[in-house]
Amino acid sequence: MAELKAEYMITALDDVASAHAQASCALDDYLAMPDDSMDGRIAEARARLGKQAIILGHHYQRDEIVRFADHTGDSYKLSKLAAQAEGRYIVFCGVHFMAESADILAQPHQQVVLPDLNAGCSMADMADISQVEACWDRLVAAGLTQAAAGGLMPLTYMNSTAAIKAFCGERGGLVCTSSNAAAAFRWAFARGQRILFLPDQHLGRNTAHGMGISPQEMAVWDPYQINGGLAPERLHAARVILWKGHCSVHQRFLPEHVDRVRAKYPGIQVIAHPECRLEVCQKADGIGSTERLIQFIEQAPTGTMFAVGTEIHLVNRLGKRFAPLGKRVITLDDAGCLCTTMFRITPQHLAWALENLVEGNVVNRIRVHEDVKRWARVALDRMLEIQG
Ligand code: SF4
Repeated sequence: MAELKAEYMITALDDVASAHAQASCALDDYLAMPDDSMDGRIAEARARLGKQAIILGHHYQRDEIVRFADHTGDSYKLSKLAAQAEGRYIVFCGVHFMAESADILAQPHQQVVLPDLNAGCSMADMADISQVEACWDRLVAAGLTQAAAGGLMPLTYMNSTAAIKAFCGERGGLVCTSSNAAAAFRWAFARGQRILFLPDQHLGRNTAHGMGISPQEMAVWDPYQINGGLAPERLHAARVILWKGHCSVHQRFLPEHVDRVRAKYPGIQVIAHPECRLEVCQKADGIGSTERLIQFIEQAPTGTMFAVGTEIHLVNRLGKRFAPLGKRVITLDDAGCLCTTMFRITPQHLAWALENLVEGNVVNRIRVHEDVKRWARVALDRMLEIQG
């Protein structure tokens, strides 16, 4: 897999270089223009592209981008929409791993564009393929992957690189989302006694906890420590080995934020994303993916007030949407948790990408290497087969 990864990276960089060289409209010129001059240009380019292009906007994108999206959703919903899209271009206003997933699921004639290549994900970046391979080698050496030891199933969250998804697919594992993580755990435990869960320790811990797995049966693998920082007996006692990764947005929410908001607004409903810490999720009234968090609010009676533990752009948008319906939505933490990498996609980047497509230049194309794509697709297909 190390070889595949290196090859994959070279391909991706070649694509980026050639895309920039071909672009007739220079990004720097756009970045010098004011935001409010972009709306008309985006709308015109969008209209000229017609059915050739689809714009997907993640819930955490800024309003100036979301207003031009043909569809909004979480990464799973958008990936499925990308797979069903018919146009030639899928313009993905999200982060890098989402555009990769779209490319894996897209049809051969389709091209996926990420308007700013700097829009990464700090969580996905916390599990590098070479680190994961080194971890796996240690687990093999410790005998944990052997049938006699009950077997070990690698399972990765959608928020990971294509190389990590392929790693899991090649070793009999699968991908999961925050909405079907429990089903994915059940699938994995039907095939092995242990799970290696990548890259979000909090989603893994929350899911395992919800299935009755005790803290003593979980261990956290730190890729920056020798042997993951785990003694052999700790490793052998673990049913779930959690990768030491986290979301920089959701990890910021603390149990005291829940206590504070409950004291200030008696009767408030606290709902949180499972990328939040276990201590926060345990205090919450509801836990769910971004799509599920929205459902909680939709289904609540008029007059309900919610404090939501997720990204601030989505929380603010929900606040505006539900205010006329008599429901109040605030953030769990007044400091506001912004996904800075999602925020990198500006109206200027979107205008630049669309106007280049109008000119026939595909800029910032995200293309996953075919060998990586094959195994990543296997892991994604296994996910689609399980019941959420
Ligand atoms: S909110 Fe967290 S997990 Fe989602 S893209 Fe941003 S850093 Fe990554």
